[in-house]
Amino acid sequence: MNICIVGSGYVGLVSGACFADLGNRVICVDNDESKIKKLHKGIVPIYEPGLEEIIRRNVKARKLSFSMDLRQSVKKSEVIFICVGTPPKDNGEADLSFVETVAKEIAVSMPSYRLVVEKSTVPVNTGEWVENTIKVFNKRNIPFDVASNPEFLKEGSAIDDFMNPDRVVIGVKSKKAREILTELYRPLKAPIVVTDIKAAELIKHASNSFLAMKISFINSIANICDKLGTDVNEVARGIGLDKRIGDKFLNAGIGFGGFCFPKDLSAFIRIAEKAGYDFGILKEVESVNLDQKKMVLKKIEEMLWNLPGKTVGILGLAFKPNTDDIRYSPPLDIIELLKKEGVNVKAYDPAAMERTKEVFKKSVKFCKNPYEVAKDSDCLVIATEWNEFKELDFSKIKKLMRQPNIIDGRNIYDPAEMKKLGFKYTGIGRR
Ligand code: NAD
Repeated sequence: MNICIVGSGYVGLVSGACFADLGNRVICVDNDESKIKKLHKGIVPIYEPGLEEIIRRNVKARKLSFSMDLRQSVKKSEVIFICVGTPPKDNGEADLSFVETVAKEIAVSMPSYRLVVEKSTVPVNTGEWVENTIKVFNKRNIPFDVASNPEFLKEGSAIDDFMNPDRVVIGVKSKKAREILTELYRPLKAPIVVTDIKAAELIKHASNSFLAMKISFINSIANICDKLGTDVNEVARGIGLDKRIGDKFLNAGIGFGGFCFPKDLSAFIRIAEKAGYDFGILKEVESVNLDQKKMVLKKIEEMLWNLPGKTVGILGLAFKPNTDDIRYSPPLDIIELLKKEGVNVKAYDPAAMERTKEVFKKSVKFCKNPYEVAKDSDCLVIATEWNEFKELDFSKIKKLMRQPNIIDGRNIYDPAEMKKLGFKYTGIGRR
């Protein structure tokens, strides 16, 4: 099929590259000139394992190309995926203005039948808005369908998630749209859940909110474990082996972040509110997540007593390992809290340094490696569970630090071992 992907970010680039790899001809469009220029030069603007290789292969095979010209790209493609950002407004609602702009452009460019698919995460009823918008601007009455096909990939393992999904969700109104999308996804051999458009839109928000709820739940258990002096990892293992619950998303830590959970959670709370329902559980999920970052500050204070003038080293800036994405990243919130207290902050991340430097400029000392962070620090905080941090030379770290204090914000070390090495150690829900 000839496919146009509008919005070449984390979702659009991965989807475009994977659809091309599955044998389609794909044009990835973006209105960010610098992104498209980089892609034309063979530079992938985001860090995602395996993406560069798959892009290179498909560009070479002439199955994947990049463009800033949405109108021409729509003319050449029968299926158009909308993958633009849907960032939160101040009140938590999703800002759908990029989606509207794209819908208008598609409406005036379609030469014949087009299937317009929302892949961005959007509130329920967005499909109707997209359809109405296209109708209004589609002066020549060209036939079209709108469908919803939410994306469930995770940054850091996005290619594998796209190619081997647990399920593909397709929300459609017409048989034609259903046939096109089931044919497109057939090579993946994944279960395909076909619903109406509203249900598909709801599935995405409900899934992300449920996962966020699991994280806030285990973080609450961790806070109880802290008070009672037992180990949350043991509790999580005991819970997670129950197949009805499952062991995924039961890692206690400094809270969830990224461009999905925080914004989708607040958007879902607002969607429910507009529909006349007070989604109290999700409000609590949000507030536990906010408190989790403040709790880290409290733990640092318990270790260091007075904070002004002390130096804290942060290992990990991305919201999770294997990505350079720092949007709504908990480590960044923790740095903000520390700076407000007059703490000197040093930091290192294997992939997210450049992006974080743009945020904090010179107010944070960015280091070349974890050892440079440790040097003369009063406390180290493990904020992202990169594999690199699981293999550090701790006797070297201890010698470099001013005081051997470690807050393991992702519970990646063995508390007994860290104490044996001479550190004052605390994890999240385990000491
Ligand atoms: P992103 O910011 O990385 O990418 C969005 C891209 O859209 C940007 O490159 C931007 O320049 C482009 N864009 C905006 N307006 C445009 C326009 N008018 N024409 C062409 N391009 C335009 O965002 P993302 O992380 O890829 O997320 C996109 C959507 O997918 C969001 O709704 C998000 O919630 C959802 N989603 C994200 C993930 C994830 O892990 N990042 C996973 C599942 C779903």
